[in-house]
Amino acid sequence: MARLVCSSCGKEYSAGDPVWRCSCGGILDIKFTPCFDRKKMKSKPHGMWKYRDAIPISDKNIVSFQEGFTPLLEVKTGEGRLLVKQDHLFPTGSYKDRGASVLISKVKELGIKKVVEDSSGNAGAAVAAYCAKAGIECDIYVPKSTSTGKLAQIKLYGANLHKIPGSREDTAEAVMEAAEKNYYASHSWNPWFFQGTKTFAYEVCEQLGWTSPDVVILPVGNGTLFLGAYIGFSELKNGGIIDSIPKLIAVQTANCAPLYKSYINKLNKPSSIESVVNTLAEGIAIAKPVRGTQILEAIRETSGEIIAVTEDEIKTSLYTMMKQGYYIEPTSAAVIAGAVNFQKKNMDSIGDKTLVTVFTGHGLKGTDKLLKLNDKRKMNNGK
Ligand SMILES: *Cc1c(COP(=O)(O)O)cnc(C)c1O
Ligand SMILES: [Zn+2]
Repeated sequence: MARLVCSSCGKEYSAGDPVWRCSCGGILDIKFTPCFDRKKMKSKPHGMWKYRDAIPISDKNIVSFQEGFTPLLEVKTGEGRLLVKQDHLFPTGSYKDRGASVLISKVKELGIKKVVEDSSGNAGAAVAAYCAKAGIECDIYVPKSTSTGKLAQIKLYGANLHKIPGSREDTAEAVMEAAEKNYYASHSWNPWFFQGTKTFAYEVCEQLGWTSPDVVILPVGNGTLFLGAYIGFSELKNGGIIDSIPKLIAVQTANCAPLYKSYINKLNKPSSIESVVNTLAEGIAIAKPVRGTQILEAIRETSGEIIAVTEDEIKTSLYTMMKQGYYIEPTSAAVIAGAVNFQKKNMDSIGDKTLVTVFTGHGLKGTDKLLKLNDKRKMNNGK
């Protein structure tokens, strides 16, 4: 049986409790021993729910579009073998569907009829889609500056959309009020979301013949994919399926890098920074990551590191990927810029290593912003 445990005071809750945060205000994590029966998995439909004995939800409550098991394709950018998980190909166009599928299944299991969520757009779109499928009402809070593609999705899935002026943090504050009276289906606070994002690690290892890659490079704003992957790799290691957990590399945008700042200064808590609206990587512009301390711990545990990328590096990676036929949103290009940066720094030692990274979001969500960027580039002669 799964249990929820507070990371601050150690208080425990049962999996049937409709809580998203401890009464002390602390973050909850899920304690659960997953089961990996590879023979049984083979008989399941292709997708992330093939690992269903590793996901603590009962069969009848699963809310799913048979999503997941996205392709793992090699992209040429530098030394080492760089494989990119195509998570922009999920039903709503981002990896957030991994978390939303499990979280909204849990919401259904708890018998909850309405949830609230805040996001820079993609998590909101994912929660809205799964709520639509499950017949659950939802209120989604987003910054006013969010890409129109994401806003359209949230509205058309039938969610109540709240556009909040100001920074991402202003949006987070607005939803906290709503969360006093409603269940908070938060991708950063709610531990059930990470029971979905952990399937990223399962899929990668299965696609590599049940071995783990050497290095995994992931975006970090709130770290919902990053921490999910850490949980997934840890579970596979504890289950004796893989020998070691890969080195985890976190990528932040230099314009909003509270964890990079801590990493450089060898601190174990997120550093405080001014909140930022101005970066191409809107999906990871998080000034106050709720699980920042956990992210820094995962970096230390896996001998990983944090890389901060500039706006110019993001643009270069974006155009490079587009030229190879991948239509991704700028936030996804930031992650590729981080991978390229890692390849350059480790040129002499990674020739025989397998590196895994991810396309997190589909470009069609941000076509308005991509067109503006391209017009500017033409004016500046291709820069
Ligand atoms: C959510 C998201 C990320 C990662 O964000 P976290 O805040 O670290 O969970 C990266 N790229 C895209 C496109 C996203 O939507
Ligand atoms: Zn507590």
